[in-house]
Amino acid sequence: MDAPDPTLRPLPDAEVVVDLDAVRHNVRRLRELVWGPPTDAGSGSSTGVGQVMVVVKADGYGHGMVPVARAARQAGAEWIGAATPAEALALREAGDTGRLLCWLAAPGHDFAPLVAADVDVTAYSTTQLEEVVRGARAAGRPARLQLKLDTGLSRGGAARDDWLPLITAARHAQDDGDVVVTGVWSHLACADEPGHPANAAQVAAFTEGLALVADAGLEPEVRHLANSAGALWLEDARHDLVRLGIAAYGLSPEPGVATSDELGLVPAMTVRGRLVMVKQLAEGDGVSYGHTWTAPAPTRVGLVPMGYGDGVPRHASSRAELLVTGVRRPVLGRVCMDQLVVEAPDAEAGDEVLLLGPGSSGEPTAADWARWSDTIGYEVVTRMGGRQVRSWVGER
Ligand SMILES: *Cc1c(COP(=O)(O)O)cnc(C)c1O
Repeated sequence: MDAPDPTLRPLPDAEVVVDLDAVRHNVRRLRELVWGPPTDAGSGSSTGVGQVMVVVKADGYGHGMVPVARAARQAGAEWIGAATPAEALALREAGDTGRLLCWLAAPGHDFAPLVAADVDVTAYSTTQLEEVVRGARAAGRPARLQLKLDTGLSRGGAARDDWLPLITAARHAQDDGDVVVTGVWSHLACADEPGHPANAAQVAAFTEGLALVADAGLEPEVRHLANSAGALWLEDARHDLVRLGIAAYGLSPEPGVATSDELGLVPAMTVRGRLVMVKQLAEGDGVSYGHTWTAPAPTRVGLVPMGYGDGVPRHASSRAELLVTGVRRPVLGRVCMDQLVVEAPDAEAGDEVLLLGPGSSGEPTAADWARWSDTIGYEVVTRMGGRQVRSWVGER
């Protein structure tokens, strides 16, 4: 879990390194935080202990979907979650054979390939359920189907008035042998504010939805509501399975509630590069587009070959800091498309610069970048990448 040793190979000019040991550590750590320490009887649903899904949508939040999914399975994740059908099918093509759920398909989607690939699919509406049934018939086997109820996020899923029609139609489709209802789920709006009243309201609404499911005679394997924040901070939201995204990558869903360190998580992404050149500026020299920063005194600066085209947030212009030869130094002026300028009093061209990492060497974290650019760590890591060389350490 230590930062990768740069002496092992030549350092690329700009790179993203993903530590899969950190991912495995985080998945195990989260299982313990959520479901308690492992028992002699083992873990997993067979003992009645809850299950873990690791969500790898959007290329694994920028960390690489396939290597992260593999690491998550190695650490015992029973489920992998993907947003789109294309992501789910790509995971199957890459060799993933475990339980896999996806949940975002537009009208007219052909579900047959997902059914054939043994992917659990999600229906938001009776219309979509009909499409799933069609896909199952085309594939010649029942679809593994999960029902998504909107309990208050007002995003995907059946609106409350449509719960009963969807549940009833799913029961009929199951009786007809077209589907097996494997799950019922929903998603939280405010889990990163544990005291927010929407949480209790959503937990209560989900319980009502589950009662309708039971009344219809359906007995899904998994009922699930919690994302990372819900899993960590809302015990009532855990049910049978928690869907872990950001926390599996080592970031806290809300550092204001608990930091990554406090949770015992290790950020898996490191972004680093080498100074392309260094130069001496005179007092009064303006730096980068718009001259938003002007040297108040003679200043030595370095040029970093990464910019917003590589996922470095332009909003962090003149606010961010980088670790330049071991010391935090400010970004000077605007972040450009391909490059940025950093204060570099002691550095030489070719020296290492750390933009982002677990923080163990004093480098900024994704949480720091989130503050500097008025966003969340999720967006920082998910958008990171462009022309950097991406590699993985801890691959097995
Ligand atoms: C992205 C996502 C998650 C994971 O959320 P985190 O906050 O990253 O843990 C869980 N469930 C659904 C439906 C999602 O879209």
